Amino acid sequence: MSTGEFDLIARIRGRATTRGDVLLGIGDDAALLAVPAGLQLVVTADTLNAGIHFPHDTVPADIGWKALAVNLSDLAAMGAQPAWCTLSLSLPQADPVWIDAFLDGFLPLAAQHGVALVGGDTTRGPLSISVTAMGLVEPEHALRRDATRVGDDVWVTGTLGDAAGGLALLDRPSPPLLRARLDRPTPRVEAGRALRGIATACVDVSDGLLADLGHIASRSGLAAQVDIDALPASEALCAAFDAATRAPLQASGGDDYELCFTAHADARASVEAVSLQLGLRITRIGRMVAGDGVRPVHSDGTRWSSSRHGYDHFA
Ligand code: ADP
Ligand code: MG
Repeated sequence: MSTGEFDLIARIRGRATTRGDVLLGIGDDAALLAVPAGLQLVVTADTLNAGIHFPHDTVPADIGWKALAVNLSDLAAMGAQPAWCTLSLSLPQADPVWIDAFLDGFLPLAAQHGVALVGGDTTRGPLSISVTAMGLVEPEHALRRDATRVGDDVWVTGTLGDAAGGLALLDRPSPPLLRARLDRPTPRVEAGRALRGIATACVDVSDGLLADLGHIASRSGLAAQVDIDALPASEALCAAFDAATRAPLQASGGDDYELCFTAHADARASVEAVSLQLGLRITRIGRMVAGDGVRPVHSDGTRWSSSRHGYDHFA
């Protein structure tokens, strides 16, 4: 971009929050960050493309929120404390009004988690937002995908299927709660921190529970058995969909950004204590067994097979 690019960057720089360990932030060729001795740096990146990762009618503030939230969710799933981020914007035009509205969603979430925006890139092109988020974790405490064991319980935070429900009802008057879960996911940062030393493996639910839990299973060389009847549903989801339509949304719908984790059966009281302490629902939904893949079952043990009902919206 020409002059417009620098106006936009000046705008972003003028509003970006910083923190003491940012030795050099926006404005040089690169940022200089002081990584505290004794901690490990955790780095993740995610891109949001218009029409793919958010509906075209999404307002700029919600795009800003979501672009950061999905990255903080990855840090949460590692048990990391968020610290810094960069922001790469591809914009159809240099529109200062759009940038301000975008920052109205992005910056409050950054402030909420003490994250400094330390750099980025601004170019002209189809609307696309790429964020790199960096966090810190104590050595040996990162929540990896590959460390679960046979007999471990499988748990999930919050409720499942809300974002997929909101997406399914996109062109109808949809319950505001479902649309809000799609547009403004809550990264479970505090839960990820609290689960250090309790969870044996953890993943954030971005592509759908069964798919994401499948990553834990395959990385750990085990199978995961999931009780579909136990999956937590919000009141808004229950009000909008009958049980048969709801189940595939909860099992396979994406964009929930809840944490799915495993923990030893001895740790049930610890998990419940975390739930109480954070005021966050945490539900036991299955267990790890020998074998491979993810096995969705009903509470009575019979195999659950998803009817295509509910999937059609995403076909
Ligand atoms: P360079 O040509 O060295 O890449 P740029 O002109 O792209 O420099 O960027 C100038 C400064 O502004 C850099 O410090 C860069 O990190 C920062 N910056 C550019 N775009 C953004 C953005 N969208 N958000 C935050 N910082 C940005
Ligand atoms: Mg650049």
